[in-house]
Amino acid sequence: MAFTPDDEPGWFRWLSRVVLRLGLRRAMLAMTATIALLAVLIAETVVLVLGRGDWRIALASATLCSVVLAPLFGSLLLRLVFELDRARQRLTVLATHDDLTGVHNRRHFMEVVQREWDRARRYSTPAAMLLIDADHFKRVNDAHGHLCGDELLRCIAQTVREQLRQADVLARFGGEELIVFLPHTDPLGALDVAERIREKVQNLSVPWQAAKVSTTVSIGVAPLRNELPSLDWMIHEADTALYAAKADGRNCVRTLPFEASRSGGAYPVNSR
Ligand code: GH3
Ligand code: MG
Ligand code: MG
Repeated sequence: MAFTPDDEPGWFRWLSRVVLRLGLRRAMLAMTATIALLAVLIAETVVLVLGRGDWRIALASATLCSVVLAPLFGSLLLRLVFELDRARQRLTVLATHDDLTGVHNRRHFMEVVQREWDRARRYSTPAAMLLIDADHFKRVNDAHGHLCGDELLRCIAQTVREQLRQADVLARFGGEELIVFLPHTDPLGALDVAERIREKVQNLSVPWQAAKVSTTVSIGVAPLRNELPSLDWMIHEADTALYAAKADGRNCVRTLPFEASRSGGAYPVNSR
């Protein structure tokens, strides 16, 4: 099971937040000062309780011991905190992102988009889903090798990302398939985005050894509709539209036929 910051005890989370905010040097100084103060207090209390011993010698030896020992052990301890934080950040990225393309993975997409979907339904705001599939990708692998296919996939993901807004959610849905959730986007806007993505990928050319490798994508668009019972259904509609795009010869955008909108005009079914 993945380790998450929620599994850490509260005091440790608080301590690491303070230490990380201070930085290594200032955290070390603060720790040395705290330990020196505590050591002096303990030494002086012992002298006071015993009723013998020189308080000046107690003060000097407690200060000396703590300022020598605290940086020594403190640096080890604080380094652990910093290493742990780095590991925590890497773990978060690994748990939420796809290794190959660097975009979100499917599990994280479903988590984030379910919240967005609920919100869009509650406030009746428009939204849309795009399912993007690379065309004849097997041929790319067969002709140029799997590594070339990987590189092309990375470039496609990057190209798609460049066409999106900050609030849009992009993920790798499966092998050579990407999925995008577009909040606050009406059906025409979604078709526009999809068409822009299709065009950009069509013009993409990746140098590989002596060759220039390119591909196209087919895109299925599913706008959010009141009749949709769940997020899975919306994805299913995008998949059906994608299937139509493949059947229509690939390198095109398709959406399902929709009933007339409230203003009377029907949403377009095709783009290219
Ligand atoms: P279509 O236009 O019908 O989608 O054809 P296609 O060849 O893209 O589809 P198909 O489902 O027949 O094959 C998918 C191909 O995508 C085969 C598989 O090896 C390749 N693929 C899936 N994931 C990866 C990956 O991570 N890296 C590489 N290089 N190829 C991948
Ligand atoms: Mg494909
Ligand atoms: Mg596919």
